[in-house]
Amino acid sequence: MAENDKAPLLGLHHAAVDAAVIKGTLTNSTTQQPHLRTAPPCPKCGVIATPQIAPGNGPHAFRANCAHCGSFVQWLSKYPPAEREARRQHYRQQALAQKPASPRQLACLQALGDAGPPPENMAEASERIGNLKRGRVA
Ligand SMILES: [Zn+2]
Repeated sequence: MAENDKAPLLGLHHAAVDAAVIKGTLTNSTTQQPHLRTAPPCPKCGVIATPQIAPGNGPHAFRANCAHCGSFVQWLSKYPPAEREARRQHYRQQALAQKPASPRQLACLQALGDAGPPPENMAEASERIGNLKRGRVA
């Protein structure tokens, strides 16, 4: 075990593992130390090693650098997988509520037989389309 194995701080989480967890391809037990288990090979030198954690920038909390050559390997989130997904959904809904319903959504609603007033935004249109589709299946 290298000393670097003990380095991670603040519950860092590995983006690729987060995605796998969301897709349901990994169990929770493998996320205890995801940055150690699933470090991808360095894109530059191909070495698979525990990455060095460095501060990120912009929306990224941290970055992982190749321990061998120092090249960037990937971004790391400071949020655990469940919270990342919750935040993603939250901001997605907010963004959709800012935009008017798209022509495709309106056409879809019409095709599904929606009789109500035009939806005020993408989030509302999306919800109504979902409800109509579920209603048809059930
Ligand atoms: Zn490298």
